[in-house]
Amino acid sequence: MQYRIGLIHGDGIGPEIVGEAQKVLDAVCGKYGHTFEYVRLLLGGASIDANGVPLTEETVAEAKQCDAVLMGSIGGDAATSPWYKLEPSKRPEAGLLGIRKALNLFANLRPAYLYDELREACPLKNEVIGEGFDMIIVRELTGGLYFGERKTTEEDGVRKAVDTLVYSEEEIRRVARKAFEIAGKRRKKVTSVDKANVLDSSRLWRTVVEEVAEEYPDIALEHMLVDNCAMQLVRDPGQFDVILTENMFGDILSDEASMVTGSIGMLSSASLNETKFGLYEPSHGSAPDIAGKNLANPIATILSAAMMLRYSLDLDREADAVEDAVRKVLAEGYRTGDIMSEGCQRVSTTEMGTLIAERI
Ligand code: NAD
Repeated sequence: MQYRIGLIHGDGIGPEIVGEAQKVLDAVCGKYGHTFEYVRLLLGGASIDANGVPLTEETVAEAKQCDAVLMGSIGGDAATSPWYKLEPSKRPEAGLLGIRKALNLFANLRPAYLYDELREACPLKNEVIGEGFDMIIVRELTGGLYFGERKTTEEDGVRKAVDTLVYSEEEIRRVARKAFEIAGKRRKKVTSVDKANVLDSSRLWRTVVEEVAEEYPDIALEHMLVDNCAMQLVRDPGQFDVILTENMFGDILSDEASMVTGSIGMLSSASLNETKFGLYEPSHGSAPDIAGKNLANPIATILSAAMMLRYSLDLDREADAVEDAVRKVLAEGYRTGDIMSEGCQRVSTTEMGTLIAERI
């Protein structure tokens, strides 16, 4: 099959890690007989340097012509980079928010998976880790508190700030459907996280999620309050398969879940819209401190490419092959510096990419 893939190299370590993911995708093409046509797109700091703005209409239009977009991280060192002397709406991060909005990417997926070989990096005790964990957090990305009306006022010398948390049933329904569909490809359990004992928006969330659950009779649904979920993630992470939640709760819980794995260089993510289209990127930032040194771990980006194969291109077998290749390389003892441990062999960014590509 032939696919059109947008590539956003990004800033900092972005070009290095995207280059390695492309190497692995080329190996997938070679083995399974697909053709990937790559379209290079500019976003973030690289776009500011070329066009003066972090996102252009051209990038949005070209992304819309692609089956999916794979991205390295964007942004620079806020203390030293000239990009951060610009007003906030012209900085690299504004480009990311802009493209998510322009492409209507309302569902953010962040897997948290513990590789047996990296158990040592997990900050939890062995008895808590048990058999390990493998969960995916589905976070609503374009509604809720971060997008509601906000204002700061001052009355009689007293300052007051208000943010509003709004969800329509349609916004809840479409992200809930994504979570149930993903659970159908996995262990068939959805944990919907809210604060229904306090918030009206959470009570509507719970009602709509229950309505959606009726469309998926083979998927088990449970509800959990967000404070309890924050505790359960460090008490018994193995209980979760798919966690479905709103924007702010998901922001916090997905960072907690990723820290529990202990390896930021391993964590992939995806943002999806109503169609099969998605924007795939590592969960970590552009790591300006190690940029250009061939030190970065490319695995999060390679695993993001695997998610792209699975969720946007429906190439499950090929996605499995990429994930298996990563597992093999770890089992053989190869490590980049960030996940290095005693007795393992330290490799560079490019060596890690080649090792994984060779095992496809
Ligand atoms: P960061 O994730 O870039 O780095 C945090 C630490 O983790 C650093 O020590 C870095 O060297 C290390 N690290 C990160 N990824 C690594 C990898 N693949 N391999 C090895 N080590 C890795 O976070 P930060 O320093 O807070 O942010 C740097 C820049 O990235 C900022 O401009 C920030 O805005 C941006 N950022 C972008 C995204 C995104 O594009 N989605 C996400 C987060 C941060």
